[in-house]
Amino acid sequence: MTAVRGRLQAGPDLDLDFVRFGDGGGPVVTVLGGVHGDEMEGVLAAYRVADLLASTPLRGTVTVLPRANPPALAAGTRHGDGDANLARLFPGDPGGGLSERIAHTIATALIEPCDLLIDLHSAGRRYRMPPMCGFGAGRTLGGRPLLDAARTTPFPYLWAHASVAPGRSVSHADALGKPWAYFESGGGGALREADIDLYAQGVLRLLEVAGAVEPVSFAGPPPARQVVVTGGDGNTDTGVLFGAAGVFVSSVAAGDTVAAGQTIGAVYDDAGRRAEVVRAEASGVVMMLRHDLRVMPGEVAAIVAGEDGRAA
Ligand SMILES: [Zn+2]
Repeated sequence: MTAVRGRLQAGPDLDLDFVRFGDGGGPVVTVLGGVHGDEMEGVLAAYRVADLLASTPLRGTVTVLPRANPPALAAGTRHGDGDANLARLFPGDPGGGLSERIAHTIATALIEPCDLLIDLHSAGRRYRMPPMCGFGAGRTLGGRPLLDAARTTPFPYLWAHASVAPGRSVSHADALGKPWAYFESGGGGALREADIDLYAQGVLRLLEVAGAVEPVSFAGPPPARQVVVTGGDGNTDTGVLFGAAGVFVSSVAAGDTVAAGQTIGAVYDDAGRRAEVVRAEASGVVMMLRHDLRVMPGEVAAIVAGEDGRAA
């Protein structure tokens, strides 16, 4: 399939480079990478998806924007221009600052016209997350619940969100009644080839269910067991918070199942004394865990999401 390269202007000082496959007919899908500048998994996976689409027969139109937040990517930091979190600014403002204009440009040119939005994130430098697909629990894709589509992806963890915090790309899609999904994995500032493979395969699976590509074949089926968690609105600024300053030593790993009250880790002060024990407030799966060692009160230690009792 021939790729058409294009450029969106987010203002006189910034262009967003995308690649589009298909002739404009539906289903129309948008794939974003690099909304956060320290999450290179999504950027590399978006490029890989574009490579795969070049040899995949299409039924719809797929637009891939691998570098959604060039200022943040250039700095290698989660936030971009003016320390703004692009994932809190959607649908943006054409008269605002650079990050607000980026959000507005992506919202109007790529989200509002689409039938499915896939936003590729990861845990970034400071956190760890298990490989997962998050999605709008109430949305459908291909005439079936979006959960069914998520189950076709190779992710071992699926996070069904009944609601979504405002400001994210997927929040804008959700407000417009569109199906949406985002991927997470990795973290700690290091990349794993396996995670990028999961992303690329996961995107193509969702494109297949959406009817945007011909059925695609991969080496393996989805994992035998996929853990489905619920609860939370995907806001990574909330969760179990630190109450003390110091260095964090974890007792669990991202993806672990914990009981209510179980120790997640401890904060030690500079004299080696245990200043705080961090515990899970409820039972569930550790979907996000602090990696970067030096912590401050009010920062997020972990997000624990309840496991869906109905899950197979
Ligand atoms: Zn992110």
